[in-house]
Amino acid sequence: MKSDVVPKPAAVSIRGVDKKFGNGFHALDKISLDIADGQFLSVVGPSGCGKSTLLQIVAGLVPASGGKVLLDGHPVVGPQPHEVAVVFQDALLLPWKTTLQNVEFPLDLQGVPAAERRAKSLEMLDLVGLSAFADAYPQQLSGGMRQRVSIARGLAQDPRIILMDEPFGALDEQTRIRMGQELLRIWERSRKTVLFITHSLAEAIFLSDVVVVMGRNPGRILERMEVPLPRPRSSDVMGSDVFGQMRNRLWHLLNDEIDRTDQAAPEL
Ligand code: ADP
Repeated sequence: MKSDVVPKPAAVSIRGVDKKFGNGFHALDKISLDIADGQFLSVVGPSGCGKSTLLQIVAGLVPASGGKVLLDGHPVVGPQPHEVAVVFQDALLLPWKTTLQNVEFPLDLQGVPAAERRAKSLEMLDLVGLSAFADAYPQQLSGGMRQRVSIARGLAQDPRIILMDEPFGALDEQTRIRMGQELLRIWERSRKTVLFITHSLAEAIFLSDVVVVMGRNPGRILERMEVPLPRPRSSDVMGSDVFGQMRNRLWHLLNDEIDRTDQAAPEL
């Protein structure tokens, strides 16, 4: 019998995306990848495999040379701040604005009325545990706190999709693990669709529903792995056999790729 149910399009559908830069460098080779609504997907891969380029193409910040990206079935033709928020490694806060003003800033640019943007921003600061620092300036905050402000700013825009490019890459190991736990808590409450780039295999497994491994020269997908760990997750899962086996498998995949292209070993 024919079903009348029309399948929902993926929140993000990357279809045959190719990227050649002006100097002829072939950065991405026909990447195809779907991210379901509400899914947390991480991309790992050796430095230079095109992770950031792919994220910027999805964000509409850089054009693809071939193929296309669809958000909820609609092609990306430029930045879509209402739909997509981007969080970078460097929190990129404005030093002359307070924490609250930094979170409010994109909403201000979008013309959201003052009372509404203030309420939304305070709610997001509460979510990331920084209500007490609403009036502090970025230079008064630690690196981890600045990155939480950056996440609050992304969430305040209430995007359907959040793209994160090594958001904890500049933090020390301990802060990084705590930020991962914090992000998981926030994500479990907001259930946004997330594309997350990291070079930490443990971080990728701990956070994600799916981990995608990329290789380079040219950038391409080597493997897509579902993470079979139940949610909600605590850091205890990192000691489980399933976690260890996945990390091992990822490490070997990346090590073989790095051997092939001759670079430093991936961070465990
Ligand atoms: P990753 O994020 O995986 O480290 P990137 O996406 O930053 O990789 O870069 C992929 C490759 O494309 C790298 O070799 C980089 O040097 C190259 N690349 C990035 N931007 C440009 C550009 N504007 N022009 C030429 N090559 C570039």
